[in-house]
Amino acid sequence: MKIVELLKNDHPSFSFEFFPPKNYSSILELGINVGQLLKLSPSFISVTYGAGGSTQEATFELIDYLQNKLGLCSMAHYTCVNAHREKVLKDLDYLYERNIENLMLLRGDPPKGQDTFVNENGDFHHASDLIELVSTQSRFGIGAAGYPECHPESENQETDLQFLKLKVDKGADFIITQMFFVNQYYFDFVDRARKAGIDKPIVPGIIPITNYRQIKRFAQMGGSEIPEALIKALEPYQDDAEKTYNIGVDFAIQQCRELLDHGVPGLHFYTLNKSRATIEIFETIKGHISRKNNLVL
Ligand SMILES: Cc1cc2nc3c(=O)[nH]c(=O)nc-3n(C[C@H](O)[C@H](O)[C@H](O)COP(=O)(O)OP(=O)(O)OC[C@H]3O[C@@H](n4cnc5c(N)ncnc54)[C@H](O)[C@@H]3O)c2cc1C
Repeated sequence: MKIVELLKNDHPSFSFEFFPPKNYSSILELGINVGQLLKLSPSFISVTYGAGGSTQEATFELIDYLQNKLGLCSMAHYTCVNAHREKVLKDLDYLYERNIENLMLLRGDPPKGQDTFVNENGDFHHASDLIELVSTQSRFGIGAAGYPECHPESENQETDLQFLKLKVDKGADFIITQMFFVNQYYFDFVDRARKAGIDKPIVPGIIPITNYRQIKRFAQMGGSEIPEALIKALEPYQDDAEKTYNIGVDFAIQQCRELLDHGVPGLHFYTLNKSRATIEIFETIKGHISRKNNLVL
């Protein structure tokens, strides 16, 4: 099923992002956590694509399993960093033959060791180039990335929004945002997007904080502000995993409640291949979620 259809009928959606595990213990951990998360009947799941296509084989294998063995509506992330058109067309056929109907199309992060993006010899410069190619085939539902706090490489909010609009004009059906911790940034972003003529669903990306140092690193990379009060609450407990977990999950619950109260089209969880926090958040906020689908809990 195309996610854009699902966002119309299964409102608000509740979805999870995974990344391909790197070794046997993380494969086992992912299996256990996916098993737990399935009990929440996610609307869809997505699997990331490593920097510069470094996880391609694992991404495709995992997405194939989740879509075809577990029957989950699955979306493969796909990046165009240094990709060639012929190879992209082959990959699209491969995914389509495996019943993958949804793609999150991205430029991609710079390959490891590089801070800034340099397109060395690829056929695509921006996500919009890849979206244009895929949308002409009319067979995939297309997601694109949005940045409530502006993409770190962008000159300003206006140009960033123009390029988001370009992604939509080229064929993106919906947008999933970079993680954020200040809801007002998301609300303002949606307002600006609507004024700029972007009428597609904008699904907020949520990351439950369970490890303070890790989240600070991610937030810095993605340009996401962590509120001062939250930093103050977390900092004294950096080495206390349980306390950090409780503060992080309580914060995410408040954040999700407020987003749901504002009528967001869905909540997309960056699970980091874990399940405990997402399950606890879902269990607490499920009263706020009145979905048309019956939930299997
Ligand atoms: C929901 C989500 C999922 C993600 N999943 C992955 C993943 O699986 N793998 C991965 O490697 N990364 C992933 N990322 C990170 C993403 O690849 C990076 O944020 C990357 O730096 C930008 O990707 P993009 O698709 O937004 O790029 P683009 O839309 O191409 O934008 C990149 C920058 O270029 C600017 N720009 C865009 N178009 C033009 C133009 N025509 N001319 C000039 N400037 C332009 C934009 O304003 C922005 O500053 C994800 C991000 C999000 C929010």
